[in-house]
Amino acid sequence: MSVFEGMSTMGHEQVVFCRNDEAGLRAIIAIHDTTLGPALGGVRLYPYLSEEEALRDVLRLSRGMTYKAAVAGLDLGGGKAVIIGDTSVKSEALFRAFGRFVASVGGRYITAEDMNTTVEDMNFIRRETEWVMGKGAHLGGSGNPSSVTAWGTFHGIRAALEVVHGTPDPAGRKIAIQGTGAVGMHLAGFLAESGASLYFTDIDTQRVARCVDRFGGEGVEGDAWYGVDVDVLAPCAVGGIINSHTIPQIKAPIIAGAANNQLDDESRDAADLMERGITYVPDYVINAGGLINVAAEYRGYPAQQAMDDAANVFNTVKMVIDNARRESITTIEASNRLAQARIDAVGNVKRVHLNDPVR
Ligand code: NAD
Repeated sequence: MSVFEGMSTMGHEQVVFCRNDEAGLRAIIAIHDTTLGPALGGVRLYPYLSEEEALRDVLRLSRGMTYKAAVAGLDLGGGKAVIIGDTSVKSEALFRAFGRFVASVGGRYITAEDMNTTVEDMNFIRRETEWVMGKGAHLGGSGNPSSVTAWGTFHGIRAALEVVHGTPDPAGRKIAIQGTGAVGMHLAGFLAESGASLYFTDIDTQRVARCVDRFGGEGVEGDAWYGVDVDVLAPCAVGGIINSHTIPQIKAPIIAGAANNQLDDESRDAADLMERGITYVPDYVINAGGLINVAAEYRGYPAQQAMDDAANVFNTVKMVIDNARRESITTIEASNRLAQARIDAVGNVKRVHLNDPVR
């Protein structure tokens, strides 16, 4: 795939290749679409096997951010960055070098935490550029977003329950969480407080035991999780877990969780779930709390505002499921259409020239 071919197939505006050998930096910044605002998306550190693999990933992920911000109602575009490298070799120089390249695009791209990058890494980037979110609180940052992500996910689950059962109340519902890490643990807390019965699975069995201890409920071993007889499966671990092997095992009428890229093959698996009458809540819609959190940081809003905005995931999820049912399309198609409609409508409004546009 040539760079321009990839960019024009997926609709990217700009791709920036960044090199600083002394700092060990080889990075790519992809700006997909800035119709709604600056392109915000995390920087991922990953030992890609080839430059092509890194390019493909950053193009795909940045396009996903455009839709995620649009459907969440944010004034942000879509972007992402990848640093090609060994996850065990991190340094101040690496992130400061990356920060200078972020600065060079003048606020068209805003970076944040992602896979294998942390609040501390963002703090290094902040020493070179203001265009970084998810910094530590001492730098005016919002820190770890996982509780906001879980709060949005909780409200997304409530919305799915309302459409499927006529009431959003999780009390008495059985909900099975896969992945009891940062998001899964917070989500379990919100659900337990609302009276749901919980089931947990994790490759780290100590984490399952800790959850059962704190919130009650039961542990489920490995793949048995897919077939548990519950109201909601909430994937909060890794991607690709909903696939042609696992779908036939699923008894739950709703899949609604925070994990990214849950469907192995987006169009095939979404169609299969729809055919089986399983309501799938698109991951990028329900897990928008993390992005909402950094968007609040960018705007200078207080932390409570991020929680309030994340609760609005309820309305978005409800609209997506309602639209999908009305138009007999998958929920993925419904959310993509909703995102594109907002980009088109707001893009049209922005045709009018202003001398002093708001930030
Ligand atoms: P985390 O690393 O804190 O927790 C992940 C948990 O999943 C760990 O306990 C891990 O042991 C477990 N796990 C890993 N592989 C598993 C498997 N195959 N089966 C069962 N359990 C497994 O991560 P997190 O921050 O809680 O994020 C969870 C998911 O949500 C990820 O997919 C992440 O991309 C997504 N997400 C997180 C945020 C956020 O704010 N943290 C925002 C948006 C999306």
